[in-house]
Amino acid sequence: MRIGYLEDEYSQSELVKSWLMGEGFSVTHASTGRGFISLLADNPVDLLILDWQLPDMEGVEVLCSVRDQLNSDVPVVFATQRDAESDIITALEAGADDYLVKPLNKGELLARLNALARRSGMSTGESRIRLGPIVLDTVSQTITSNGHPVKLTPKDYQLACCMLKNEGKLLSRDYLLREVWGIDASLNTRTVDVHVSRIRRSLNIGPEIGYCIKTVYQHGYRLEKIDKIDNVVPAD
Ligand code: CA
Repeated sequence: MRIGYLEDEYSQSELVKSWLMGEGFSVTHASTGRGFISLLADNPVDLLILDWQLPDMEGVEVLCSVRDQLNSDVPVVFATQRDAESDIITALEAGADDYLVKPLNKGELLARLNALARRSGMSTGESRIRLGPIVLDTVSQTITSNGHPVKLTPKDYQLACCMLKNEGKLLSRDYLLREVWGIDASLNTRTVDVHVSRIRRSLNIGPEIGYCIKTVYQHGYRLEKIDKIDNVVPAD
């Protein structure tokens, strides 16, 4: 996988580059927004990691340039020191696919990149998806937990499928509503909340199995692995 990486802080970028290259990824790195945009014109990449605060531009401006000038739909992850909800919403509305809050954690970064890569077409096409004790079989359309079938209503099954297939990916309520219920003006996003709560209970998703469904304020949900705290680096 070819990764475009924008980060102005030297020790941070050297460390993250070493993690990425250690995974066999190629890295196109720049430390300024303008430098990055011109570099990308000649160096195609599969995924972008963008810093939020740069000496010459805001990361969100870089994102808009990438989307407009390069006409690119490449997946984008923001790495930001700020975790203010308004900043995160701004980035997501500008077209970012996901975000990470600094200090970055190696395991979390790689898990998010791999999840995004899978979603953007590098899918293995497997019919079985396993998360801890939970197994989704998309051929028989069943979900088991510790080998026991889990009874779900058809909508809950579809919602569970959507979340299990998108492990690590932030899914908005609107996206889930469209995917599971189709466009239906009579439904509101509260419906999603009710069904997500039911799935959490039915599948026993929680620390005991090493996964959680995280609620992202005013936005949606992410089914994610609960990682050990390791490889933490200081923010720039
Ligand atoms: Ca920075």
